[in-house]
Amino acid sequence: MDIKNSVAIIKAMPKVELHLHLEGAFPLESLLRLIKKYGNTEVRNLEELKRKFIFTDFGHFIDIWYWKSAFYREPADIEDMAYSTIVSLSEQNIIYAEVYFSPYDFVKSDMPFQTVTEAVISGVRRAESEYPIKIGLIVDIVRNHGPETSIERLDKITPYKKDVIGIGLGGSEKEFPAKWFTAVYTEAQKRGFRLVAHAGEADGPDSVWDALQLLHAERIGHGVRSIEDPALIDHLKAWQIPLEVCVTSNLKTKIFPSGAKHPIRNFFDDGLFVTINSDDPTMFGANLTDELNLLISDYHFSLPEIKQLMQNAIQASFADENLKQQLTAKQQAYWDSINLSL
Ligand SMILES: [Zn+2]
Repeated sequence: MDIKNSVAIIKAMPKVELHLHLEGAFPLESLLRLIKKYGNTEVRNLEELKRKFIFTDFGHFIDIWYWKSAFYREPADIEDMAYSTIVSLSEQNIIYAEVYFSPYDFVKSDMPFQTVTEAVISGVRRAESEYPIKIGLIVDIVRNHGPETSIERLDKITPYKKDVIGIGLGGSEKEFPAKWFTAVYTEAQKRGFRLVAHAGEADGPDSVWDALQLLHAERIGHGVRSIEDPALIDHLKAWQIPLEVCVTSNLKTKIFPSGAKHPIRNFFDDGLFVTINSDDPTMFGANLTDELNLLISDYHFSLPEIKQLMQNAIQASFADENLKQQLTAKQQAYWDSINLSL
């Protein structure tokens, strides 16, 4: 395929993604505004900020994660971050995204849970009203905050059920295994939340089995280490359980030693229900557009296969049927408009 031509096609294509963390997707310009607001001698311009986001190892990545979080000091900062992030997605021609956020991480900075949540919802809804994009919010209840208080965390989300469609489970997968969160997932399901869990990223296939069988997760965040268990691959295929695959993230966090070892191509060819996502685009330096270009250049995906991935994302989303139909129609209209009868 003519790569130059495909880059233009991917750029203009209406896109959908399901695995993106608000805290890792903000535009650097929005962080720079806060750095200037609160004063910081280390970083004076965008170039210096970009350099700060070149990570030497995972420990450095975590350090920078907390460094940047310290600049969100009042509700307006969070509202602006949420708004700017969604606008930046729309600028990539993303028409629908499901976005994780973890209010508990901001609560450490003394801002009440409700204040953080309402600021995020406000920023997201403002962007939606101004740009052609729809967002589904998923609250990450974060493994590292422990299972003991997880029901309390769910109680705090429940009043926002109109705006928060589901719950997710990020954080340290090995140290805080899925099985510890069975009770909160059972309760969340009773309350009508959609269920998704990170699994098969830092930990192996057992973690994915637990997310499916104990948590009843409807989708798996990552799931790439399912490749280590043929029985699990058969199960994922038979039940067509959607996987939120994030290739660049996996390579940056060294889940696989090289791009050639990443199973995305095998998963797709094998008939697994794969979606493609950017995870923490600002932190990892690759947004959804970059991910799709990477699939074409390094994993030899064709345009019909890219179209299939977008259709998978629409089908695996928690959007209602009406919105799914609208998203599908927009996709199809695009392919029709460029005269590629796919
Ligand atoms: Zn993630």
